[in-house]
Amino acid sequence: MNKKYDLGIVGSGPAGYTAALHGSKKGLKVVLFEKAELGGVCLNRGCIPTKAILHCAEVFEEIQSAKALGIEISDTKVNFAEVIERKNQIVSKLRKGLELTIKNSGIEVVKGEAKIINKNTVSANSNTYDCTQIIAATGSEPRILRGMEFNHTNILSSDDILNLDKLPKSIVIVGSGAIGIEWARIFSGFGVEVSIVELADNLLPVADIEVSKRIERIFKTKKIKIFKSVKVEKIEGEKVHLSNGEIIEGEKVLVAAGREVKDFQKIEGVKYIGDVCGEIQLAHYASKQAIEVIDGIKFDKSLVPSVVYGNPEIAWIGKREQDLEEGSYKKSFMLISALGKSHCDNSPDGFIKILVQNDKIVGAHIISKEASSLIQQILIAIQNGITVEKLKEVCFAHPTYSEGIFESLFGL
Ligand SMILES: Cc1cc2nc3c(=O)[nH]c(=O)nc-3n(C[C@H](O)[C@H](O)[C@H](O)COP(=O)(O)OP(=O)(O)OC[C@H]3O[C@@H](n4cnc5c(N)ncnc54)[C@H](O)[C@@H]3O)c2cc1C
Repeated sequence: MNKKYDLGIVGSGPAGYTAALHGSKKGLKVVLFEKAELGGVCLNRGCIPTKAILHCAEVFEEIQSAKALGIEISDTKVNFAEVIERKNQIVSKLRKGLELTIKNSGIEVVKGEAKIINKNTVSANSNTYDCTQIIAATGSEPRILRGMEFNHTNILSSDDILNLDKLPKSIVIVGSGAIGIEWARIFSGFGVEVSIVELADNLLPVADIEVSKRIERIFKTKKIKIFKSVKVEKIEGEKVHLSNGEIIEGEKVLVAAGREVKDFQKIEGVKYIGDVCGEIQLAHYASKQAIEVIDGIKFDKSLVPSVVYGNPEIAWIGKREQDLEEGSYKKSFMLISALGKSHCDNSPDGFIKILVQNDKIVGAHIISKEASSLIQQILIAIQNGITVEKLKEVCFAHPTYSEGIFESLFGL
């Protein structure tokens, strides 16, 4: 006889495990199918491992600039194998925590590739599972570009790059989306020669134009070579041929040209959440969708924050300046160097830009240390329709980066 469940979920990334945990909290009998590791891309090959490695690059870079802070450190070197080992330990620890939470929630985990047969049936490992509701949260995979197929030795995907045993001397990064920008930041932090190739006219083309331009400036100061409005034609060994005839060199090539969903056919009555939808491919979007499906808590899909871990951090919410009609908005633009705290931290680079219509913030774009947290303050104001005048009544602590938000309000 087939096993019976209230909820069957295929895929255990942030979309799947959030749906499973919230489902079980509601008293549903849940079965969760996973063909690889629990936690999906986010925990095993995405958000967490990249940020673990990024932190090491950050510390190494800080040490390089320590002399300017009155601290002398000699003989600093990177043991990249240990950087990777630390990353593995962090991932493994967090995964064990997730496995335990799932187990303690009474969710049944089925290890193996699952196939959704129809809106109430899943098959896996030659067994059939009857489910009142099925959620597909099967995620996405690195996009493969013609002429740049991954060979996993020098032409690498965002999965391969996580497990290099040593730092390359040089790297070419194809694509300047969030993944490309973060890896450029990581490798340049470790002292690797970095070239970044972008098809669009600006780096991080999804961002506000002033953000893109500032990233370019920051990258140039870090000696990252930028090739814009060009594409890669072919890769021959260490030689990367660009469409403008230039040939650049990289011991490794990271192809970070987005993510895609392969062999995807929607089945009527099944709910699709997370990356598999091909909408916004972010972990917090995936988990919010899960909560929406299970608990019915709706969220505004035009208000999903973006964070990119550059140096300094980059974050934005809402409308970009290039999306607004000229004359229809007010703008404040404040340099982070105006904040005392930024000098104390030796991190005066960046800006806070706020766009306002009818006394309400419609967009905010931040490059700053702590931008990832700052953006959340603005999002809460936008989402709750808090006017600029009302925000001016809030008391912001000193010395902080939040003060920058407060000061910006008076520039409108
Ligand atoms: C390098 C990198 C860095 C990133 N950094 C960030 C970041 O900083 N912030 C952020 O918000 N997002 C980031 N992302 C994106 C984020 O990882 C994804 O948006 C998120 O993981 C999507 O979650 P998901 O649950 O939809 O899918 P996934 O996390 O992809 O999980 C899907 C799961 O389904 C399983 N699966 C698929 N098919 C089957 C099947 N037939 N049977 C059983 N199991 C199956 C897969 O094995 C996988 O475990 C990053 C991604 C990458 C690659």
